Amino acid sequence: MDHIDRPRIAQLREADPSPELIDVYAWVRTKRDSKAVCFFELNDGSSLKGLQAIIDKEQYPLQEAIDRMQTGCSVRVRGHLVESPGKGQKVELACSDLEIIGEAPADSYPLQKKRHSFEFLREIAHLRGRTNTFGAVMRVRNRLSWAVHRFFQERGFLYIHTPIITASDAEGAGALFQVTTLDMQRLVNAAPGTELNYQHDFFGKPAFLTVSGQLNAEAYATALDRVYTFGPTFRAENSNTTRHLAEFWMIEPEVAFCDLECNIALASEFVRFLLADILEHCSEDMAFFDQRIEPGIVEDLRRVAESEFRHISYDEAIRALEASDRTFEYPVSWGIDLQTEHERYLTDEYVGGPVVVTDYPRDIKAFYMKQNDDGRTVRAMDVLVPRLGEIIGGSQREDDLATLERRIDELGLERDAYSWYLDLRRFGSVPHSGFGLGFERLVRYVTGMQNIRDVIPFPRAVGSAEF
Ligand code: ATP
Ligand code: MN
Repeated sequence: MDHIDRPRIAQLREADPSPELIDVYAWVRTKRDSKAVCFFELNDGSSLKGLQAIIDKEQYPLQEAIDRMQTGCSVRVRGHLVESPGKGQKVELACSDLEIIGEAPADSYPLQKKRHSFEFLREIAHLRGRTNTFGAVMRVRNRLSWAVHRFFQERGFLYIHTPIITASDAEGAGALFQVTTLDMQRLVNAAPGTELNYQHDFFGKPAFLTVSGQLNAEAYATALDRVYTFGPTFRAENSNTTRHLAEFWMIEPEVAFCDLECNIALASEFVRFLLADILEHCSEDMAFFDQRIEPGIVEDLRRVAESEFRHISYDEAIRALEASDRTFEYPVSWGIDLQTEHERYLTDEYVGGPVVVTDYPRDIKAFYMKQNDDGRTVRAMDVLVPRLGEIIGGSQREDDLATLERRIDELGLERDAYSWYLDLRRFGSVPHSGFGLGFERLVRYVTGMQNIRDVIPFPRAVGSAEF
């Protein structure tokens, strides 16, 4: 095998014709064999379009290998780049040697050249990365995650790894997965009335998979000024929707000496940065999504990337919704949590572009959000974008010890469980803010893919944890 720096197809497609012999390692997508020549297309995942290869059969007697070459097989192809007479490509590979590395028998390989439904491909998630759509999704996903890191690293944020196992449902953000080493069968067999004794459990108390790294991130933001997490998050969402996974990735920046205005500016800059980056660096894949998945998406994302984000209060949002002649499935009045239909109206119609809604009613938001002086709203913000609705949720955090303690009491939460979190307000407290962005929601928004299960390699959702 060649060195890891062997040429990849994405680069070869852009290279000039040359007599230099190269070895290309790839999978065969299609083959057209005739008497004198054999055409085949190679793909190695480095780009959407593959490299066309051609064998002059009179010059190179490779018929035996050609016969074994079928859609999906892996090959080493030796040849040199020649100018391509065909349209749609600059060069093709004039092949002088062909080695079949791994065959893919046509009678059993599930990915034949026809179009497959996404439902079917979900059942063969271990192979779907070999299709055009999933190759494109994974390249865009990869680029977006790189862009996330670049955005924060360029601004001096430290990447903090927050725990995946937590012993507190700190936020009440969603249904929890419990983590235990207790023997379930023994519990089932125990005599009725036996009390569950967590002393015997691994952590000596109930423990769960995290639903958010925010509270832990706050501890480090109030030490290192600006940090972010980008890690797996778990919610036992018992609903079968196209927007919810049981395991997803979340990005959560947290910044000290930063109020709500500062947070809004950061979030808008972040969204614009990500969209501009993906349009620039994944243009071929994005053109594919535009053509095959969501017509107009490139223009749509470009408009958002270049927009000023409007800022309205929740009060104004409610007035706008009430004044609209639209009938919503979920009725509007001050105090409701905005549903997707409301968000879509605000961003698609009322503003006609991205909009940040702030200062939500205190009663529908989490305990840690900074309280406004009006006694009924908190310094929360949601970023809404056209075609989607909410893409980011965040807030300025309550930094006043007494106010936070009072809120914890009011909600019937246990102060003891939050003593470490309250310490952050006891010692060197600062105004600080942050937000959360669900990474798969972002990938879904950017690619136009309908189902969130199709933007993560191996989706986990209720009743489904294959592969
Ligand atoms: P929704 O109302 O859509 O269920 P939420 O209000 O539960 O969202 P938050 O608690 O604010 O969401 O979570 C922060 C972010 O995490 C959301 O904006 C979203 O991007 C993402 N998110 C939440 N739940 C899921 C999930 N089950 N699968 C994938 N992403 C999710
Ligand atoms: Mn939810």
